[in-house]
Amino acid sequence: MNDMYKPFVLSIVVLCMLGGCPRFSWAQDKGIVPAPQLVDWKGGTTIVSPDSITFRTVSLKIFNAITRLESVAHPDEAYVVEVTPGRAVVTAIAEPGLFYGMQSLKQLAEPSGNDLWKLPLGRVDDAPRFSYRGFMMDVSRHFRSKEFVKKQIDAMARYKLNRLHLHLTDAAGWRLEIKQYPRLTEFAAWRNAATWKEWWNESGGRKYCDRNDPEAQGGYYSQDDIRELVQYAAERQITIIPEIEMPSHSEEVLAAYPYLSCSGEPYKNSDFCVGNEEVFTFLENVLLEVIHLFPSEYIHIGGDEAGKQAWRTCPKCQRRMQTEGLENVDALQSYLIHRIEVFLNKHGRKLLGWDEIMDGGLTPYATVMSWRGEEGGLKAAKNGHQVVMTPGEFCYLDGYQDAPITQPEAIGGYLPLSKVYAYNPVPSSFSSEQAAMILGVQGNLWAEFIPTDAHYEYMAYPRMLAIAEVGWSRPEVKSYADFFSRVLREVEWLQQSGYHPFPLDKEIGERPETRQPIKHLALGKTVIYQAPYHPKYKAQGDMTLTDGQRGGWTYSDGAWQGFISEQRLDVMIDLKQELPIHEVYADFIQMLNPEVFLPEEVIISVSVDGVHFEELKRMNHTVDKTKSVCFQKYGWEGSALARYVRYQARTLQQVNGWIFTDEIIVN
Ligand SMILES: [Zn+2]
Repeated sequence: MNDMYKPFVLSIVVLCMLGGCPRFSWAQDKGIVPAPQLVDWKGGTTIVSPDSITFRTVSLKIFNAITRLESVAHPDEAYVVEVTPGRAVVTAIAEPGLFYGMQSLKQLAEPSGNDLWKLPLGRVDDAPRFSYRGFMMDVSRHFRSKEFVKKQIDAMARYKLNRLHLHLTDAAGWRLEIKQYPRLTEFAAWRNAATWKEWWNESGGRKYCDRNDPEAQGGYYSQDDIRELVQYAAERQITIIPEIEMPSHSEEVLAAYPYLSCSGEPYKNSDFCVGNEEVFTFLENVLLEVIHLFPSEYIHIGGDEAGKQAWRTCPKCQRRMQTEGLENVDALQSYLIHRIEVFLNKHGRKLLGWDEIMDGGLTPYATVMSWRGEEGGLKAAKNGHQVVMTPGEFCYLDGYQDAPITQPEAIGGYLPLSKVYAYNPVPSSFSSEQAAMILGVQGNLWAEFIPTDAHYEYMAYPRMLAIAEVGWSRPEVKSYADFFSRVLREVEWLQQSGYHPFPLDKEIGERPETRQPIKHLALGKTVIYQAPYHPKYKAQGDMTLTDGQRGGWTYSDGAWQGFISEQRLDVMIDLKQELPIHEVYADFIQMLNPEVFLPEEVIISVSVDGVHFEELKRMNHTVDKTKSVCFQKYGWEGSALARYVRYQARTLQQVNGWIFTDEIIVN
């Protein structure tokens, strides 16, 4: 059992003390995803026609009198389902609650011929933990059809997710018809390369093409498409939040309308020119059409990863900084964000942006989507900003979900279902006021390395179900073992319903080397670094390479140490006494997309005095750039006498990237 089981067991004990134990149990067998707050099965089943289900709305006061829940944080989405012989009743305060009660019934129902459902006798009392339970689709890197988006909306509804964030614009393509700027979809939505990878790398040249070009690949949503999608989503209690990127990730706009960039030329800049008043005219005109199309309270304006380089020398940007008294380019970014926020507020909307919108100061009304780790978001929440938590470590579904050597190419990382599930958006140290600033959680599925629809679903499911349960279910009702068994069933349902989920029953899990610490002669011995490790990938610091802890499927897991200096890895281990040795080796990881490579040269040498070294082995290796992920051991076997063992591993001329190793093993 894992630690998450503890609070679960504790809650049962507390309930027993209150005299409620025998009557209540959690959904252990009749699995609903996400797990409901309270279920009470009577034993036995009944047959019900889905057409005969009773839906009733009641006042908050009456609902509170009916429900067995102690407190209901988001009453509109709360519901009670009661199944008695021949009858099923859903009670809620509002439409969303009725809808979610029906979703739970759908998951509980076993088909029973003649369109009848077999349902368990009993009741479910349920309400979400968070009001914001989101999924982000990147439709820029590879365009996805309207039908495909609808299909994902159907799945989101089943799992009670209620926000679909569409990443509509980015360098790889603009995906939304804007009547006033037709070149955004006549030109910036098309390219000659089918996949993002071809487009990004040399062959595609990161260029756009005319829509009528015979080679054109891409697409966009017409305004009619958007109206259709917005309505389709609303009928399933889902709000679509549009994202229009600014001031960066805007190469495609600047290629279509070069006058909006600092250089005035296409293919030169990725940031809008903040010194140019016409940029604000453009952005406001675009946002007006966006506001008109999307009823969402929030409009997402991106705000991430601005390079700000051209702003430093652009006369217009410099003039703006001078007249507005802005000290640096961060303040210039802030200036744009604030102006856009005022504009959105004036039109009755709220600004939502990636956490970089905090750089250079944030207005109290803006809502932050925290992606660069948790810290920024938690700090914003403490300072009274509303926050949606979506830290890359837990919520970026574009990383590998199983042993990378068995998976289709991904951006990198390792994010299995269990890790997504373990995420808790609210730290235990938070007061209830601080916790209330955290609106919820969102899973993001970026699509650089996901060219096909089937692959997109493969990455989304079942990890999206873990996001759903993190967002809906209170920690006390969560248990990974229980979730896993419910998800196995849902994976089957998804397959039968035409989706392409990752087959969870075939999951390999974490790298076998990590299961037990390794014992060897150098364990706990001092490592002398001839070249430093990088502070960002220091893992456990100076002890990392002799602590017996092996690395997992990704270099960023705190067990692999990263080197990028000129010499890369060059360490000496002091065994403290002269010892006969017969083996020295280390493992290395290669992950091409984040530029982590196997070494091209490894040298192993030994010394008895720390001054004179004898080279035991020198290995040369050519990096195979077609292997997106691999693991390789480089070692020496023989017999030698040593007090000092030196291990060098470097890249030569061919590659310029990182080297990561987890342990220098001496036997
Ligand atoms: Zn400029």
